[in-house]
Amino acid sequence: MKKQIYKLIIFFLMLICFIFSFISMSHNKEVNKIKTKEKVVMLTFDDGPSASADEQILDILKQYNIKATFFMTGINLEKYETEPGVKRVVDRMVNEGHTLGNHSYYHNEYINDQKQLVKELNNVNDMIIKAYAENGKIVESKDIPIRMPYLQYYRGLGYVQSKVKNPFWVRGYLGTDFLEEKTGKNEIIKQYMDNLKKGQIFVAHTRDYAKEWLPEFIETLQEKGYKFSNFTKNSESYWSNYGKLGF
Ligand SMILES: [Zn+2]
Repeated sequence: MKKQIYKLIIFFLMLICFIFSFISMSHNKEVNKIKTKEKVVMLTFDDGPSASADEQILDILKQYNIKATFFMTGINLEKYETEPGVKRVVDRMVNEGHTLGNHSYYHNEYINDQKQLVKELNNVNDMIIKAYAENGKIVESKDIPIRMPYLQYYRGLGYVQSKVKNPFWVRGYLGTDFLEEKTGKNEIIKQYMDNLKKGQIFVAHTRDYAKEWLPEFIETLQEKGYKFSNFTKNSESYWSNYGKLGF
């Protein structure tokens, strides 16, 4: 009899755990690609803005007439107010049709600190909204894509997502472009090309070395007939023109 009661208690405890994890997971929507039959990819650059690296990346994107997404940290984006070079590149991003994305404020690990994460994401969203506004564009929090630092994903993020009114986290394919000296130009391009598929989201970084591999990578994709999409609403490059976002 006692044994049966224990079994019953354990069963109910497991059921409660299951229900809670289901509830917290249900809001945690992650996006890994555009579900599409068209030849289209997204280029995304993390960890900026940086006056020198972004200036070069923007020049290359302009040369090939490509729209991308920049996931920026608050520590770097707050230099918008004090460093003219940073203001210049962020203003260029907005005016040249790229998307400003949120990459947290401190770029930490947040697994035990979801309240801090909510605070940071809201703070960076405010900075992004302000940068758009300075350039005469109105953007809402829900339209700002967010990518977690180190592509961290865990259960509690469902709570964070509901607090920042963020509809999805943006993931994608990450190679080792950030270890440029070890990886080198050819290997960086190879990693991306080996993972090329329709709707792919490529994760790259705002680094000076991007100028070494980015032109050839873009040319290779364009030769194959690929187009480039981003998260800028009401624009030709907006993802919804190609399909739906999915995992
Ligand atoms: Zn990062």
